[in-house]
Amino acid sequence: MLKITVIRTLFDNYVWLLLNNNKCVVIDPSNEELIIKFLRLNKLNLVAILITHNHKDHISGVSVLKNIYQAPVYGPKETKYLNNYTITQNDTINILRYKFTVLSLPGHTKYHVGYYHYPWLFCGDTLFSAGCGRIFNSSVQTMFNSLNKINKLPSNTMIFPSHEYTIKNLDFIISNNITLLNNMFIIKYYRNIIRRMIFNKVPSIPVSLCLERIINPFIQCTNSFYYNNKIIKIPNNISNFSYFKFLRNKKDLF
Ligand SMILES: [Zn+2]
Repeated sequence: MLKITVIRTLFDNYVWLLLNNNKCVVIDPSNEELIIKFLRLNKLNLVAILITHNHKDHISGVSVLKNIYQAPVYGPKETKYLNNYTITQNDTINILRYKFTVLSLPGHTKYHVGYYHYPWLFCGDTLFSAGCGRIFNSSVQTMFNSLNKINKLPSNTMIFPSHEYTIKNLDFIISNNITLLNNMFIIKYYRNIIRRMIFNKVPSIPVSLCLERIINPFIQCTNSFYYNNKIIKIPNNISNFSYFKFLRNKKDLF
């Protein structure tokens, strides 16, 4: 049976590891020393490395791990120089006997990808709990489309982002009073829960897509116009995309 665990690296990065018996697959390895230590301690053999996008804090451990373990690297076009296999939308990869589908999720970077096997989605820096990734070499429209794609997945999909940003994102929502479902009391209550988790060094993620539909205004702007029969009201009757753009700009300045 597949097990999922996590190593916290750098300041707020999460490196997700998939384990089956003595085999391991790592996603976005950013600190090779911590990963090697974990693999040795648990007597695991690294059999593949998956990359979501070409940012240093997601790839800095790839070369060393690839050399030591001779593990093949799967990544998007933008990490071609590191890849054994360059993957794109709808490609499938067999990971520890589980079939993962590649979702093209551009927006944070131009060729960003996610890895999906129901109910797990490893989405890199596309969707965070209560927030979404910054836009670097792509467009707001592209990010909007990628979040739209994620929001079409089943509601019990578990989202595994690559950073611990939940408190910061909830602070942004609360201090700007952004509540498209008129549910600020839930968001504030949720922040208290997350504060306690972070204090106890427990990751706030993974998180279900269902919960994101309740707390995350970036997801609410996409294709879920209502949730549990409650209509999501975009202020001033502007389009969902315009409101998304407004929120993304506001968050950049927060
Ligand atoms: Zn990034």
